[in-house]
Amino acid sequence: MDRLEKRLIDSVARASADFRLLEPGDRVLVAVSGGKDSHALLYLLREIQRRAPFPFSLVAVNVDQGHPGFPKRLLPEYFEREGYEYRIVEEDTYSVVKSKIPENKTYCSLCSRLRRGILYTVAVELGATKIALGHHRDDAIETLLLNLFYAGQIKSMPPRLVSDDGRNVVVRPLIYASEADLAAFAEQKRFPIVPCDLCGSQEHLHRKRMKQLVAELSRENPHVPNNLFAALGNVRPSHLLDTRLRAALADAAVATDEPADAAPVVPLTGLVRAR
Ligand code: SF4
Repeated sequence: MDRLEKRLIDSVARASADFRLLEPGDRVLVAVSGGKDSHALLYLLREIQRRAPFPFSLVAVNVDQGHPGFPKRLLPEYFEREGYEYRIVEEDTYSVVKSKIPENKTYCSLCSRLRRGILYTVAVELGATKIALGHHRDDAIETLLLNLFYAGQIKSMPPRLVSDDGRNVVVRPLIYASEADLAAFAEQKRFPIVPCDLCGSQEHLHRKRMKQLVAELSRENPHVPNNLFAALGNVRPSHLLDTRLRAALADAAVATDEPADAAPVVPLTGLVRAR
């Protein structure tokens, strides 16, 4: 195992320990779009599964959304070759999105909402206790900036989220991994990548601009991405203006989804050693 793989496994193990992403007996639905991040996620979770001090299972799920030119056999052949349990779900959300969104608008928001709904349903069918998504550190940074600039909110992507109806738990085990590491890893492992432009949608313009902004600032100060990410774990409520948050803290009544008798976290750190 080389340093890159070790670093990525360590990052997933740390995120899991910090946010209870992987727990004994979990059945984890891994959402695999066929992009570099979801491929890396599936691979890394299996490496962790092999080393973890407790059992959990994985099932890879790909949603074939009916995009023209979608290479239908690419992922099933890969999953079979690698011995992954998997399910391909065929749902033509492409036609729905095309009919509802004007040509000059981006489809991503509706498309991803529909896909999330499908994953929620399939997770229940498969008896999955968690749905793992491939969002990484840079996605979290860009989402933070998008919310600051365009939504008037200080928030990013939760590493662990219980769905509104309480039936699903979404986790993001790559939240500490950088996009650059994941891209290098995908290249190294030669994952069979499904092109992400099949839908004909342009990458979301605002998100692209956030990425460019961070890249530009990083040229002046290479610590910018790390500082932005660190800020997400270094919140000073007393220096913000959210009266609800201040009231909640004053009452020391921070709500969590943690059941009173929740099992203690089993640490997953120190699983691998670099050669
Ligand atoms: S890029 Fe295409 S497939 Fe991906 S979320 Fe946007 S519309 Fe959907």
